[in-house]
Amino acid sequence: MITFYPGPSKIYPQVEGYLQDAFQTGILSMNHRSEGFMEVLRETLRLLHLKLNIPADYSIYLVSSATEAWEIIAQSLTTHHSAHHYNGAFGKKWFSYATHIVPQTSGSLFAIEHTLPYHLFEYEEDSTRADFNRRRLGEYEVLCLTHSETSNGTQIRMEDLRQIRELTPALVAIDATSSLGGADFEWQLGDVWFASVQKCLGLPPGLGIMVCSPNTLAKAQKVNDILRYNSLLFIHENFEKYQTHYTPNTLGIYLLMRVLQQLPSIAEVSAVVEQRAREWYSFVENETKWTPLVQNPNTRSDTVIAIKGEPSQIQSIKSDAKKAGITLGNGYGEWKNTTFRIANFPAIEEWEIQKLKQFLREN
Ligand SMILES: *Cc1c(COP(=O)(O)O)cnc(C)c1O
Repeated sequence: MITFYPGPSKIYPQVEGYLQDAFQTGILSMNHRSEGFMEVLRETLRLLHLKLNIPADYSIYLVSSATEAWEIIAQSLTTHHSAHHYNGAFGKKWFSYATHIVPQTSGSLFAIEHTLPYHLFEYEEDSTRADFNRRRLGEYEVLCLTHSETSNGTQIRMEDLRQIRELTPALVAIDATSSLGGADFEWQLGDVWFASVQKCLGLPPGLGIMVCSPNTLAKAQKVNDILRYNSLLFIHENFEKYQTHYTPNTLGIYLLMRVLQQLPSIAEVSAVVEQRAREWYSFVENETKWTPLVQNPNTRSDTVIAIKGEPSQIQSIKSDAKKAGITLGNGYGEWKNTTFRIANFPAIEEWEIQKLKQFLREN
């Protein structure tokens, strides 16, 4: 069976050997305050900086999941207000969780064909409305965005992020769960970037990554949330010593280190991902009977491709694919019955893509 599920997704085949190694090195029985563990954590953080080209002054923390990162942002980085602009199920869920923690939240839903700047300024035909949105951006405390909305295959381009960044003093938090490890970010355009490892990083689930700007740490000190096991300040204190705030997923961290060792730089990885994405969209449009869900090339995701159809067609393509040994991603949220999804993650190999293309030509 080959899988194009966008998370949990195909893991790198080398992981099988790394699992053996993990067992044999003895790391799995080591105390998380021991030298042996600290060395693995130190090396993992070094490799994340190196391979993903993360600026030296951005700090990295490992948590349990992207979902936990949503909560940490609400608890440790927000005093009164977080603003959520989203177009799909994950952004909406984040907004919903934040409403239970943050005194004041605002949520704004935009169309999948609209870029974020378009949604904020141009779509509003009434210019007073656009001015209002600009003013509001200037007053945001924490702005929450989803870089690649896994539920519908949309993405925010770096140039759009740059436009927004220039208009707001807010701490910008970006859910990059299905793109971190596959897309080349301009890290300075965000303050908190976070992801889980089971998507673009080709690893088994159970580990989250938070990448934080110096500004984030300053904000955490101001908020001074010290009430919880996962208060960012407490996490930071531990990571400064290459330790963790609870007994961690040592196996997950070890596997992350090993996969990072084998990976080329993010510039190289993302070039392949982008090229494959262009080929996927043009293939679907020109060589199959299918249509991408997202029509606007400026809002299409490079890492998750959503394809739309009638519910009965979707049902049968998924079951026919299964018979052919291929797992397609189910639709998600609002698009559950009217789309299927194809992960375009780096761990997927060329022969697998060719096999799925052949299948889609005929079905
Ligand atoms: C998968 C996903 C999540 C949730 O990840 P967990 O590891 O389950 O916490 C959050 N946001 C986006 C955009 C996702 O794709």
